Amino acid sequence: MAVLDIVTFPEPSLRLKSKHVTNFDKDLQTLIDNMFETMRAAPGVGLAAPQIGESLRLVVVEYTDDEDENAKPKKYALINPEIVKRSEETVTAVEGCLSLPGLAGVVERHEAVTVKAKNRFGKPLKIEAEGWLARIFQHEIDHLDGVLYIDRAEEVFEPTPEEAEQIKD
Ligand code: ZN
Repeated sequence: MAVLDIVTFPEPSLRLKSKHVTNFDKDLQTLIDNMFETMRAAPGVGLAAPQIGESLRLVVVEYTDDEDENAKPKKYALINPEIVKRSEETVTAVEGCLSLPGLAGVVERHEAVTVKAKNRFGKPLKIEAEGWLARIFQHEIDHLDGVLYIDRAEEVFEPTPEEAEQIKD
């Protein structure tokens, strides 16, 4: 496995609409493993393929709900993901992005979403997510359409080191 370079704003590739994945081959498996390793090394809770310069509809997410002491990490590789349902209720919170180091933004997101995708072997998946996991899915899936949180943020700011520690990239 390998840690890949993360592409940062304003790199134009972050603004492209990514292509659907059609081959669930060995190269895809290697790419997914490398993306997990890159995300953990950063560290971050989500990473989309355009962030490592691959224009493919693929995201990886690894998130532990730290409000629940017994929570185990939830780990997902989502291929060709689509949000098929969004709650009417929205929540506003501060988020960051590995492609926008040193910045954070106040972003309104749906409180819950349902995501349909394929897993790494091409098997269909349907996930109902709420709270931070729903926020991560919305953020990462936006990357596949060239959308960054700064496009949606009410406010973008440079967090202090203490604030930065609280922000999940
Ligand atoms: Zn991001």
